[in-house]
Amino acid sequence: MVLATRFAPSPTGFLHLGHAFSALTAFDWARGAGARFLLRIEDLDVGRRRPAYEAAIHEDLAWLGLSWETPVRRQSEHMADYERALSRLIADGLVYRCFKTRKDLLADSAGAPHGPGEAVRGGPLAPGDEAALLAEGRPFAWRLWLDRARDALGSRWDALTFESDGAEIGADPARLGDAILARKDFLASYHLASVLDDAAQSVSDIIRGEDLREAAHLHVLLHALLDLPTPRYHHHQLILGPDGKRLAKRDAAQTLRALRAAGRTAQDIRLALGMAKSRIA
Ligand code: GLU
Repeated sequence: MVLATRFAPSPTGFLHLGHAFSALTAFDWARGAGARFLLRIEDLDVGRRRPAYEAAIHEDLAWLGLSWETPVRRQSEHMADYERALSRLIADGLVYRCFKTRKDLLADSAGAPHGPGEAVRGGPLAPGDEAALLAEGRPFAWRLWLDRARDALGSRWDALTFESDGAEIGADPARLGDAILARKDFLASYHLASVLDDAAQSVSDIIRGEDLREAAHLHVLLHALLDLPTPRYHHHQLILGPDGKRLAKRDAAQTLRALRAAGRTAQDIRLALGMAKSRIA
C-alpha cells in the first residue's frame, strides 16, 4: 500500500506557528515513512477565503522547507464531487433540511448543561411546515440524520472502528450530533468535503491536531455511508500561545510571515517547536 498524508489549510488567514507544527509533523512523518506528502487548499468558506492567503500558504510552506506533490488539490475546483455525494445522501434519505438559525441554536441550548454548541439531533420538519419555509425562501442547512444512518447501517453501526494514534477504537458517530454537511454559503461542509477529498487523494494517514479527534468519529460514519475507505488517524498536540490558549488566526504576532519579517529562519521555527515534535503515535 502506498502511504500518503496531507496538510489541508484553509486560506482564511495567514499561517501561524500552530500550522507550521502541523505541516512539519505531517511532512516529517511522510519523509520518515517514505510516504507521499500532499497539500490541499480547503477553500470552501466563500465569505472568508482570500487569494492572498492562498498564495501565502505556498510561500510560507516553501520557506519552512516543505515540498509537496503537484497539482495541489483546491476544494473549490471539485464542487461537483461534493454535490454528487450530497445528492446521494439526499436520495438515500440520510440528510434533512434544518432551518434553524445560529440564534435559534443558541436559544435552544441556553438552558442545556453544555451550553451553546450542544449537538443537534432530530429530523426534518413536517412536510407542510417545510414546504412553507421553502416557499418563503428561508435558508437551510443539510444535516446528517443520525437516526436514519443508524437504521441504514444496521449491525454495521456498532462495528464501526478506526485506528487512532495506534489504537483500534470503536467509533461513536453520534458525538457531534446531526452534523451540518452543506449550507447555502458553504456548499460542502468541512466534514463532507474532507472525507471525500481524503479518499480522492488516497490519503492513508491523517495527521492533524487533537482538536479534531472527535471529528474522526463522524468521519468514519461518513466513510461507511459513502463507501469510502477509512484512513488511520494520528493527532498531535496543539501549540499554545503565551496566554495558554491555542493559537488562532487572530494572533498576528505568531504568523509565519511576521516571524520571518522579524528575522527568524525556518530552522528557528523548527527549534521553537522542537520539544513538541516527537509527540505523534
Ligand atoms: N482545513 C482544516 C483546518 O484547517 C483541515 C483539518 C484537517 O486536517 O482535516 O482545520
